[in-house]
Amino acid sequence: MYQIIKQILNTGIKTEAPPQPDEALRVEAQNLQEEILRHLGSALAIRHVDAGSCNGCELEIHALNNAYYNIEGLGIHFVASPRHADMLLVTGPVSRHMEIALKRTYDATPDPKLVVAVGDCGCDGGIFGESYASCGKISNVIPVDIAVPGCPPTPIALLQGILTAVTGGVKKEKDSK
Ligand code: SF4
Repeated sequence: MYQIIKQILNTGIKTEAPPQPDEALRVEAQNLQEEILRHLGSALAIRHVDAGSCNGCELEIHALNNAYYNIEGLGIHFVASPRHADMLLVTGPVSRHMEIALKRTYDATPDPKLVVAVGDCGCDGGIFGESYASCGKISNVIPVDIAVPGCPPTPIALLQGILTAVTGGVKKEKDSK
């Protein structure tokens, strides 16, 4: 027993020291949450639709859901049904066999709804363009509020696009009154 205690004392603490809190990060997160609450008055529910992407954009959307970005803590969460969604986050290009499904998903989302087109493919068709198999960009099929370029866009770029859509969406509502 004495040997074990002696070894513990001699070894000391070997784990990495925890990082110091970064106040700048806290301020950014609070700002973001305040922005969402100010504009929506509640949480933001997003329905993700893969309309025909190569899945590169999906990997970044998955990364956005990592604890590192804390989007749940900011009031943003993904939902399984468009009927529960405020926003559609659509990756593209829209393949022909997804055209009707995307239109139906858009119709099933309650108004007022926001649409964010993700990636170069979602913005302008990207490397796939328009062809017998592809409708090209998302706005060729449904109305789009914000287009986030990049192949693929980073999680932070996605978050920026989502927030921009939220801000503009409320402005659109106010303008129509
Ligand atoms: S933008 Fe790039 S990563 Fe995203 S679906 Fe198109 S090719 Fe894939």
